[in-house]
Amino acid sequence: MVELVDIVFWPCPMDFKYKDVRAMKDGEIAVAFINGAIRTDEQEEMAHLLRKKAQMVVAFGSCSHLGGIPGLGNFWDRETIFETVYGKSCPSIDNPDKVIPQKVSKVPEGELTLPGFHDTVKSLDQVIDVDYYLPGCAPPPYLIMKTINAILSGELPEKGAVLAPAKTLCDTCSRNDSKPEKISINEIKRISLTKADPEKCFLAEGIICMGPVTRVGCSEEGDGRCIAVNMPCRGCFGPPPGVKDMGAKMISAFASLIGLEGEENMSEEDVEKLINQVVDPAGTFYRFSLPTSLLRRKKMSKNRQ
Ligand code: SF4
Ligand code: SF4
Repeated sequence: MVELVDIVFWPCPMDFKYKDVRAMKDGEIAVAFINGAIRTDEQEEMAHLLRKKAQMVVAFGSCSHLGGIPGLGNFWDRETIFETVYGKSCPSIDNPDKVIPQKVSKVPEGELTLPGFHDTVKSLDQVIDVDYYLPGCAPPPYLIMKTINAILSGELPEKGAVLAPAKTLCDTCSRNDSKPEKISINEIKRISLTKADPEKCFLAEGIICMGPVTRVGCSEEGDGRCIAVNMPCRGCFGPPPGVKDMGAKMISAFASLIGLEGEENMSEEDVEKLINQVVDPAGTFYRFSLPTSLLRRKKMSKNRQ
């Protein structure tokens, strides 16, 4: 494989310079795999530069594909994040003048610059045209190899495809058969406080598992990587085909399972008590996908914008 390709830019392990990429001809790079969500001026500039220099762009990993965990920052705005990080986040912060990072700072030696920090986290395709998506946090090696082989052999699907199977994790999960005919959830348990039965479906046990709304493919064997180590799926592979908003889909699926066994109608009070057992609903249902969901970001009040 290594003899078939030249790596021309890979800033993490090797010391390539941006100026080397800028000096390339447009389209000179065959494929750019771009990871990470877009939050700063520098990330946005690099995305545009690589789009110009590459014939094909693959969004690599959950952050690039969906916005990822950094996308949960869209529940706040830039000012709130800076106020928290540089002011209130822990008692050891000593910043009486409330100094926050500036794009340009004057120092005796001259000017120091930092990339601008945007109000909203974006997925890669909200900034540039993307040809393919390689999902996962992180994408599994077997799928990376499959993608590279498909590129080398010219056997890629239609532009815009997610390069992973078109089923849900539940479709291939070995615990699916353990589900009762009708799941009835009357207690919501946290995995960190529960000894989960390694044979049983998490959801049927009252542990939130995003398997019903998550694309399969994180493991070659069929069971998800997390399921295989007795952890519920958190949804890093993104939605399967036909699902635009995996968080909303899961909330709706989950709501249909809530009920006290043997009781036809739960009181509103009981339902509320049960729902309140979901700790951090936004982080549970939108952990990887907020920037590409229908919500996209929280609208802040005018004086915060
Ligand atoms: S909800 Fe989770 S544990 Fe249950 S079948 Fe689906 S993926 Fe497997
Ligand atoms: S089980 Fe779910 S969260 Fe875990 S790696 Fe697979 S898709 Fe991602």
